[in-house]
Amino acid sequence: MAKDQSHVLIINCGSSSLKFSLFAGEGRTAVVSGLAENLGHSESRLILKENDAKVTIALDGGNHDAALRRLMDSLKERDLLDAIGAVGHRIVHGGERFVKATRLDAAVLDEIEALSYLAPLHNPANVLGVRIAMEVLGWVPHVAVFDTSFHMTIPQAAHAYAIPQTYRDAGIRRYGFHGTSHGFVAKEAVELLGLDAKDHGLVIAHLGNGSSATAVLNGESVDTSMGLTPLEGLVMGTRSGDIDPGALFHIAREDGLTIDELDTLLNRKSGLLGLSGLSNDCRTLESAAAEGHGGAVLALYAMVHRLARYIGGLATSLPRLDAIVFTGGIGENSASVRRKTIARLEVFGITLDEETNAQMYGGRCGVISASGSRTAAAVIATNEEWAIANEARPYIGNAS
Ligand code: AMP
Repeated sequence: MAKDQSHVLIINCGSSSLKFSLFAGEGRTAVVSGLAENLGHSESRLILKENDAKVTIALDGGNHDAALRRLMDSLKERDLLDAIGAVGHRIVHGGERFVKATRLDAAVLDEIEALSYLAPLHNPANVLGVRIAMEVLGWVPHVAVFDTSFHMTIPQAAHAYAIPQTYRDAGIRRYGFHGTSHGFVAKEAVELLGLDAKDHGLVIAHLGNGSSATAVLNGESVDTSMGLTPLEGLVMGTRSGDIDPGALFHIAREDGLTIDELDTLLNRKSGLLGLSGLSNDCRTLESAAAEGHGGAVLALYAMVHRLARYIGGLATSLPRLDAIVFTGGIGENSASVRRKTIARLEVFGITLDEETNAQMYGGRCGVISASGSRTAAAVIATNEEWAIANEARPYIGNAS
C-alpha cells in the first residue's frame, strides 16, 4: 500500500537503552512509543506502547542493533514502516558547533562523535543509535536535534567560567541542557499566558530526574543552570548540582577517591538520594516526609531552596519577568514542590491559586497564580519527543 510518509520516528539512544516514539502528521500524541532496555544483557527487551496496550518482546541478550531491527519489524507488522518520512535523533551535546537541528550525514556524524569528549556518557551512545538507524532506515532523512542548541544564544558573560583562557579555548564553558524542553515550553507559555512574543521574560523550571532552570527572553535562552555537563545547578534525583569544587579536593584527599569515583559520587549517589539516604524519587520522598522521615524532609527543602535561589538569580538576566513556568515530572505533578517554591519567591509578588495548583498533575497545563498576581506562575507539560518531531518534519521528502 502506498504511504504518505507523514510520520516521524524519534530515537533517543542511551548506553543500554533506546527510547522511541512515532508521531503521525502533526499529532502531539505518539501512535506507538516505548523503549528497549537492558541492551546487551541477558534480560534485554523491547516494550511497545500503543493506545493503552503494552507489548513486551524478549530480545534475548540482543543489543541496540537487534532492538532497532525488531522495532522495524514491529512497525512493519503494523503497516507503519513505510509511513515513516523522517527520523529525529536526540543528541545530548552539540558543543558550540550545532546551533540548530541538522540533517545527518557521515560528516555531521563524525563531528558529533568528535564532541564526545564533552559528553562521554551520552554522545557515543547517541551516535551508535544514529549509525544503526541510518542503516536500518536508509531511505529517509535523519535529523540531529541537540539538547544544547537552544542555549547557544546565552551571552558570553553568562556562559564563561572564570578559568584561564587556554581552558576556555578548549571549549570548557557553560552549555546548558534540556534545550528542547525549555524551547517547547517557552513557546507554549506565550500562548497560554497571552504574552507578546517579542517582549516577554520567563524563568522555566524543568524538574525531573534531571533538573534545570532557564531564563528566556523573547523566546531565546539567556542563562541556564546546567553547565559544561548536566551536573551543574539544581539538586536533582541522584546528581548533586552545585557544590564547592574545594569539597571535591577535600573528599579526594581524605578518602583517596579516584576521578571516576568522584564522578559516580556526584552523578549517581547524590542529589535527593544522597540528601535523603532513601530515594531519588520525589513521590517516594513526599510520602516519606509526610510520615516524618527527616532525610526526606531535608531533601525536599534543600531542592526547593536551590531552585528558588536559581530562579531569583536567573531573573537578573531578564529586563522583565512575566512568569515562572514549571515542567518535567516533578514540576508538572508536585503541587507541594510548586507551593513551597513560590512561597520562597515573595520578592516577585506571586500569589498562588492553591485550588488550581492542586489540580495540576498528569499532563494538565494552566496558570496557577491568582488573578492580579504581579508575576504569573504556570504549569506546562513538556513534550520533548514531539518538539524533536517538529524539527525533523520539515525534512520529509528531502532527498539527500
Ligand atoms: P521525569 O524525569 O521528568 O520523568 O521526572 C521524574 C520525577 O518526577 C521523579 O522524581 C518522580 O517522583 C516525579 N514525579 C512524578 N509524578 C509525581 C507526583 N505525582 N508527585 C511528585 N513527584 C512526581
